[in-house]
Amino acid sequence: MTTFAIRQYGDPVLKQRTQEIEDIDAGVAKLVADMIETMYGAPGVGLAANQVGVQRRLFVYDIGQGAGPRAVINPRIAESSGEWTYEEGCLSVPGLSWPIVRADSVHLVGLDLEGNELSIEADTLEGRCFQHEIDHLDGVLILDRIPRQARKEAMRAMREAQEPNAEAARGAKAAAGAHGDDVAA
Ligand code: ZN
Repeated sequence: MTTFAIRQYGDPVLKQRTQEIEDIDAGVAKLVADMIETMYGAPGVGLAANQVGVQRRLFVYDIGQGAGPRAVINPRIAESSGEWTYEEGCLSVPGLSWPIVRADSVHLVGLDLEGNELSIEADTLEGRCFQHEIDHLDGVLILDRIPRQARKEAMRAMREAQEPNAEAARGAKAAAGAHGDDVAA
């Protein structure tokens, strides 16, 4: 098993729409196994293929309710309803989180690793995870879903986090809304 480096904000692969998978072959199975390992290592509750630099339409998830890890190939949201605001983080924008408005429940369709059709009704955390991962696969980041001012503060926090003056970075990060132990995907 191999783990990948998770691509961070600024990497162009995160802004690109991924390609549908036509053959679910051994390469896809290996990719899924390695992505699951990477997700658990992060740790995170979901991971999209382009977050590890692979331009293919699939994601893995485990929201930690004992069902174990799952992969969804060529996922699509067929229907969504309601509205729910929740503090959300992203493994590609580490250390920051924001309250994000999303649909409360979604109907996800796609394929499993055996090529069987999946149809999952999901709400709360699971539904949010699906929407977050599909955003990734469409080249959309959590930063595209927050107000302009919050985005500017986040950019500054990330820039300063890379500078040697760690104290200034911590201050900026707090201003931009640093998160503790909530979920990221
Ligand atoms: Zn993410």
